[in-house]
Amino acid sequence: MTTEERPARTRTTAPPPGPVTLDPGDWDAFRSLAHRVVDDMVDHLEHRRDQPVWHQMPDDVRDTFTTGLPRAGLGAEAAYEAVLQRVAPYSMGNDHARFWGWYMGAGHPVGNLADLVASVLNPNLGGADHAPVALEQQVVRWCAEAAGYPGGSSGLLVSGASEANLVGLAVARTARLGPQVRTDGLAGLGPVAVYASAEVHSCHRKSCELLGLGDAALRRLPVLDDLSLDVAALEAAVVADRAAGITPLAVIATAGTINTGAVDDLEAVADLAAREQLWMHVDGAIGGFLGLSGRADLVRGIERADSLALDLHKWMQAPMDVGLVLVRDEAAHRATFSVVPEYLRHATRGLAASEVWFHEYGIDLSRGFRALRVWMAFVAYGADTFGALMDQTMGQARRLAALVDQHPDLERLAPVGCDIVCLRYAPSTLPPDLVDAVNRELVLCVQESGMAVVSETTLGGRIAIRVAIGNHRTRDEDIDLLVATLERLGPQAVAGVAG
Ligand SMILES: *Cc1c(COP(=O)(O)O)cnc(C)c1O
Repeated sequence: MTTEERPARTRTTAPPPGPVTLDPGDWDAFRSLAHRVVDDMVDHLEHRRDQPVWHQMPDDVRDTFTTGLPRAGLGAEAAYEAVLQRVAPYSMGNDHARFWGWYMGAGHPVGNLADLVASVLNPNLGGADHAPVALEQQVVRWCAEAAGYPGGSSGLLVSGASEANLVGLAVARTARLGPQVRTDGLAGLGPVAVYASAEVHSCHRKSCELLGLGDAALRRLPVLDDLSLDVAALEAAVVADRAAGITPLAVIATAGTINTGAVDDLEAVADLAAREQLWMHVDGAIGGFLGLSGRADLVRGIERADSLALDLHKWMQAPMDVGLVLVRDEAAHRATFSVVPEYLRHATRGLAASEVWFHEYGIDLSRGFRALRVWMAFVAYGADTFGALMDQTMGQARRLAALVDQHPDLERLAPVGCDIVCLRYAPSTLPPDLVDAVNRELVLCVQESGMAVVSETTLGGRIAIRVAIGNHRTRDEDIDLLVATLERLGPQAVAGVAG
């Protein structure tokens, strides 16, 4: 392409009169738009239950997302109007009481307000001496206490458990292989191994790849009948690797697996990790806060982890996206990430006089004010409310399991872990070779009906309908409605597959 053929990059519209500003010319008009936005969003929340959970956006709406870059602005009102018409009605649906797909929280109104304030103040939580940084430090301490993790550990908020797990494993890598790994990389260090159960979340594969360990270093070990890690198999794998000259680096125990909510035996893993000098990381994306619930017994031993990944946008219901990583040894944490160039030097006075600079503990330099939505939630609701919520959704999972167990056409495929139920539709008249296809279809029929969102997984080679409750808006009658919906749509799914 010659210079003459290149598309114009210069402004194609006439400049506005006067200085350029992004603030409104008329604050009163902006204020009334802002009030309208708030009213619309509160209406949305109040009446959400009466609308379909999800419906596919029509083609004409989809097409509007392929148009080119607007060069001239249409004003805030037009932009908001477009959101109201074309985005809000076709959003994911995880703000609805009957959204139980994958595993995500519904968001909460206090977090919604926090996000508005956070966005307006717009502080950068990379560091420096301001209240939002002190507030995030408090959130880290509160989350450690809520999770039953030792005080004095270090941590920071991140985008979610994927990033929290990556940070935890990165600290493990530096702590176990030595700080030289930051300079020299892995070359010359020989093979290493990381251990987890076969039910480990897919994000750990990404972590192993990104940290240069390679996916082959991640040993996916057998599970017991309850789908928790077989600790005897872990021990055997560590011994075998050592004998083969492979360095055992870390074990990842999961508190609430993504498939079935199974919780590994954290005490047993901690005992073995201590004996074998393995870094113990706990992936607590789902069950990391069980210590607040009536089932704190499930996560006994969590306090012995060297690092712990938590999600706040799952069972803790914070609006997307926010997770947290905790590391017992502050020095090891900092030694993994700290890079302080001259333009980020700390001062003894002024704005740069801060003890803690979060960017020295994680991947991001500029960091948003995610902490506010977590902080306001703890203040507004109290930590015990979240424990009671976990008990409520675990009870709803047991209710669903009981309904499935009694139902002639439904079958449960796994023990209930946390608040996750895996089941399938399998009437005795259905030929066994069609059951998988019918259940795949049934998941889609349920989603398209707008009554609920559930998702699918594979367990022991069989397609399962996965119901991951994790939703503070769900009521017991929603669970009954799901069973009625499966009854109603089951024959339709059979017809769809057979026909
Ligand atoms: C959801 C989940 C993750 C990934 O968390 P994100 O917040 O989606 O990044 C990791 N591990 C487990 C067990 C999970 O359930």
